[in-house]
Amino acid sequence: MSDLLRHASHALRPRPLVWLSQQPPIYLPPGVSAEPGPLSLDRTPYLREPLDRLSPLDPTEIVAVCAATQLGKSTLAMLAWAGWVRTAPAPCLWVTDTDAKAEELAKYRVEPVILATPDLLALVPPGRSREKGNTTQLKAYPGGYTRWSGAQTVSGLTSMQARYAILDELDDHAAATLGDTVRLALGRTTTYGRSRKVLAVSSPSVAGQSQIDAWYRRGDRRRYLVPCPHCGHEQPLDWRDPDGGRYRLVWEPGSPETAAYLCAGCGRLIEERHKPAMLAAGRWQPTGQASDRSVTSYHLSALYAPLGWLSWAQLAAEWEQVSAGLRRGDQRDLKVYLNTRLAETWEDRGDQTDPGTLAGRGERWGDRLPSAIRLITCGVDVQEDRLEATILGIGPGWEMWVLRHAILRSDPLDDRTWGDLDRILATRWETSDGRTLGVALCAVDAGYLTSRVIDYARRRSGIMAVRGVAGAGKPIWNPRAKVTRRYSSAALRYHWVGTDAAKDWLYQVLQVAVPGPRYLHVPLDLLQQHPDWPAQVASERRVKVTQRGRQVWAWRPKPGSRQEALDCLIYAIAAAHAVLRDRPHYLSPDEPAAPVPQQAQPDPQVGKPRPAPRRPSSAGGGWLTGRGRL
Ligand SMILES: [Zn+2]
Repeated sequence: MSDLLRHASHALRPRPLVWLSQQPPIYLPPGVSAEPGPLSLDRTPYLREPLDRLSPLDPTEIVAVCAATQLGKSTLAMLAWAGWVRTAPAPCLWVTDTDAKAEELAKYRVEPVILATPDLLALVPPGRSREKGNTTQLKAYPGGYTRWSGAQTVSGLTSMQARYAILDELDDHAAATLGDTVRLALGRTTTYGRSRKVLAVSSPSVAGQSQIDAWYRRGDRRRYLVPCPHCGHEQPLDWRDPDGGRYRLVWEPGSPETAAYLCAGCGRLIEERHKPAMLAAGRWQPTGQASDRSVTSYHLSALYAPLGWLSWAQLAAEWEQVSAGLRRGDQRDLKVYLNTRLAETWEDRGDQTDPGTLAGRGERWGDRLPSAIRLITCGVDVQEDRLEATILGIGPGWEMWVLRHAILRSDPLDDRTWGDLDRILATRWETSDGRTLGVALCAVDAGYLTSRVIDYARRRSGIMAVRGVAGAGKPIWNPRAKVTRRYSSAALRYHWVGTDAAKDWLYQVLQVAVPGPRYLHVPLDLLQQHPDWPAQVASERRVKVTQRGRQVWAWRPKPGSRQEALDCLIYAIAAAHAVLRDRPHYLSPDEPAAPVPQQAQPDPQVGKPRPAPRRPSSAGGGWLTGRGRL
C-alpha cells in the first residue's frame, strides 16, 4: 500500500513536459504480453522517434506508421497514450474498426496496464468505479478523458472535441466508415489547432484504397537505416531492391532456416543474430518531401521484427508457402504476406504481371528437356554493351519452357560477341525421350545497330532480323519482310514484330497458373542466376493512353524498370509464331517435332532445317519457304 501511495502522490504532482520516449515505464501484466514487466523500447528502438514526434514538445501533428504485424505498433499507441495522460492530459479519441473491438481494447489491453502501473492507476480509476463516470469505453482523469470507439461510431460523435486521436489498424476502418477516418478524427481535433496529435497505425491493404498508405505518402516516408555488421553500410532492410531487382533475404530453397540478409554494401550475408545490435544502431531517414508538412510518416516491414518475435527463417518459410500457392494459381497468401509482412499494398492488378508469380515458378527438370518440347526458338536483344538471349522451348498447346537466359557482356560491334551468340545458338538439347533439338529460329532485335544486326542475320540461316513496332492491330509476327536500302547499298530485310500484340499474348499466358497448355515453365537455376528476370518480364503494364485524340490500350514500362528479359522473350515468341505459321503441326504430339539444324552456324547452308512433312498451311511467304528469307 505504501508503495502505491508513494507512486500516487508523486504522480499527482504537476509534471514537466518530456519527450515521450523518456517517460517512466509502464507495466505489462502477464496475460497482456508474452513479455510481462516494465515496457522497454530496447527491443523496438525504432519506436523511439515516432513516439517522440507524438510528444507535445514536437510540432508534428500526424504520425502515420505503415507497418507489418508484430513490430510493436500497439506498444507505440500504449506509450503515446500513457505519455499524454501523464504529461499533457486532454480529451483523447482511440478508434478501432468496430465498437466490440474498441471495448475489447479498453478492457483487455489498456485497463490491465493501468492496473499494473501505479502512477497511471492513481490518475485513471478502474472501469468498475462507475460513480466517477468511468466505464469500460470512457475513462476520465485530471485534465481530460479518453473514449474508445469503433470507426462507424466516430462520425456520430459530433459533439466531442479531442486533442489526441489514436487510429488503430486504420485500414480495417474503411469497411465501417466508407471514408477517411483520419479526416473524421481531424474534424474532432480542430479546436486544438496545431497542438493536436493524431497517431495512425496500420498494416496496409489494397493499393488505391489503403488509408495508411495514403497518409504514409503524404508524409516524408521515413525508412529505418541499420548498419551492416560487416562493413558498416547503412541501409533500410528491403525484401527486395526497390527497382525490382535482387531479393535481399536469401536462403537455400527448401531450407528457410538458412535465411540471411544480403548486405547492399558489401554483398556479405548478415545472420539474424546481429539484428538487436543493428536495430539499436539504426536511425530514421526521410525518403521524400512531405506534401503535408504536419505529417511525419514511417514504414516498417517484418524484416525489422525484434529477435524472438517473427524470425527471418519464419518469413522465408511463409514465402515458400506463398510461392506454393502461386504455383496453384492461388494469390491469397501473397496478398496477406504483402500486407502483414512486407507492409506493402496489394495491387488489384489490372493487366500486369506480378513478378512474384514468376519468381515462385522455379522448377528443375534435370539435364534432359521435358519430352513435351517440340520446338526451340531464341530471342535476342541488342544493347550498347551486351547481347541478351532467351532460349524458349515450346510444346503442344503452347506449353512453354524458358531454357536459358544468357547475357553476353561485350561490345556488339565486335565480331567475337556475335561468335559467342553463334555458339549459344549451336547448342543441342537432348529430350528425355531421346530426341535432339536445336534452335529452329532466332529473332534478333535490329532496332539498334540495325545494319550490323541485319548483316549478321543474312549471313546465317535460322536467324531473322526483327524490329518491334507498338500499336493496335500489328500482328505478333509479320510474314512479309520489310526491305530497306537505308543502311547500306545492299537491300536489307527484316520483319516487324507487333510488340503490343505479343505482350497481350504473353500477358494471357502468364495468367495460366497450372502447368499444361499455355503455361510458361521457368527453371530454378535461371531464377537463381538472374534474380531480376521475373521483374524484367513483368516490367510493363497495360494502360489507357490518348493517341490522336483517341483512348487506346498500350503497354508501358513501370517506372525504373529494365526490360531486356521481356524483349528477349517477346522475340523468342515471335520466332515461334514465325515457325508455326508454316508448320503448325510441330506442336502436335503425334507428329515429328521441329527438325534440328544440322550443325553450328554461321555457314548459311548447314543451319537449314530439314524439310518436315508439310501440311497445308494458310499461306506461303514465311521464312521457311525461302520467300521471306534474307
Ligand atoms: Zn555490408
